Amino acid sequence: MADADAATAVEEKSVRLQVAAARQEESGQGIARMPRSAFQSLGITEGDTVQITGKRDTVAIAMPAYDEDQSLDVIRLDGLQRGNAEVGSGEHVKVVAAESRPATRVVFAPANREMRLQGPAQALKRNFFQKPIMAGDLVATTGQQPVQNMPQEVRRMFNAPAYALTQIRLSVVSTSPKGIVHIDENTEVELRAEFEEPRDGRAVVNYDDVGGMGETIQQLREMVELPLRYPELFTRLGVDPPKGVLLHGPPGTGKTRLAQAVANESDANFFTINGPEIMGSGYGDSEKALRQVFEEAAKASPAIIFIDEIDSIAPKRDRVPGEAEKRLVAQLLTLMDGLEARSNLVVIAATNRPDAIDEALRRPGRFDREIVIGVPDEQGRREILGIHTRGMPLGDRVDLQELAKATYGFVGADIGALAREAAIDAVRRIMPKIDLDERTIPPEVLDELCVTREDFVEALKR
Ligand code: ADP
Repeated sequence: MADADAATAVEEKSVRLQVAAARQEESGQGIARMPRSAFQSLGITEGDTVQITGKRDTVAIAMPAYDEDQSLDVIRLDGLQRGNAEVGSGEHVKVVAAESRPATRVVFAPANREMRLQGPAQALKRNFFQKPIMAGDLVATTGQQPVQNMPQEVRRMFNAPAYALTQIRLSVVSTSPKGIVHIDENTEVELRAEFEEPRDGRAVVNYDDVGGMGETIQQLREMVELPLRYPELFTRLGVDPPKGVLLHGPPGTGKTRLAQAVANESDANFFTINGPEIMGSGYGDSEKALRQVFEEAAKASPAIIFIDEIDSIAPKRDRVPGEAEKRLVAQLLTLMDGLEARSNLVVIAATNRPDAIDEALRRPGRFDREIVIGVPDEQGRREILGIHTRGMPLGDRVDLQELAKATYGFVGADIGALAREAAIDAVRRIMPKIDLDERTIPPEVLDELCVTREDFVEALKR
């Protein structure tokens, strides 16, 4: 380690473990599950701190592996931790015992651009109390992001800074001292109001955030992540990696989110082209905009270009009346053909209407791979419910499996909306106890915040 000040890892013995995904219900908790043999080799016990090194260092609390994993040299990390260590599932990390020092000061900031936060740094202190953290990491709280689309009276409350009820992700901007630290009673905690670009541009959506897509994720990883991460594999085999993948399925099933997750987990830069938006630009501008994105992405490779609603920019040419539309389709074809097979750039396109797009786009060398993203089944809905209620304090009688049954036909976006509605009801209930002139909500009132079975039942009726 270059920085002597940061040398808090007790680097004597190390173990090498293969990364696997954490179970959904444990995601965001900062724990790493490892086999007993690893505990012995490192001379540590449950609850101790470990430093995990992939391409980057991060830190976690060591917990014993599930029984079925005990004989495997596997470490289970959630998506945030994999991002922090810059490793993907299947890759290896080095693990050493570590010690955290009490921090005198820790600065957090929201981990994505849309999020504005103000409010009680005190709540953060409670959330991260005694947990090991490192500057540069992304971490999750168990609470409270301002809810969008909320009724007027509730919105008013959020303007008086408060928090609602979903997990928020923060970046640890800096700590003092450096290295592995934990927050204790004496730590001064600061929460910056606005997003700061992490130095390596890491964003927050990862595979843990898409539910009900186990196999799809696997397929897409093979098609996209593998060639982006290991281009040499394909060179070696003398085959060209795919350039274009077409995702099709109904709106709100998570296609965009999935594409973002792949980009983040494969450490690729992400560029979005919104079909209808680009169509709306003036004469000749649409083509130019398209070219620009391809150029920028090529410069920033490895990169993924995501074209949402591709049917709107590439309809069947014999069906469109205008010259402008025809030219745009032609431009897209040219750009796809111009992509070098080994340029480390993959284009993922999404559509609800695969039959409406120009056939030429689906020929070999263009969008020649397809993945169908369907409406989730009960198990899928259960997973998505888990994601959208992550960080919500749930009442005892909330049964996610029962809710999964009751939401037949719901897509991911519907489930997200349902969870938000239920949360707003819970917030309404504590409203009378909140003094809207106060800048923060007292901890005891926040502690009362709980989303109940009735909240979900009511939300389902709407
Ligand atoms: P699409 O691109 O298929 O129209 P999006 O990815 O834009 O759908 O999904 C919209 C929102 O719905 C997401 O931001 C997320 O909140 C929720 N959502 C959709 N599908 C899923 C899923 N499979 N898992 C978790 N959330 C989902």
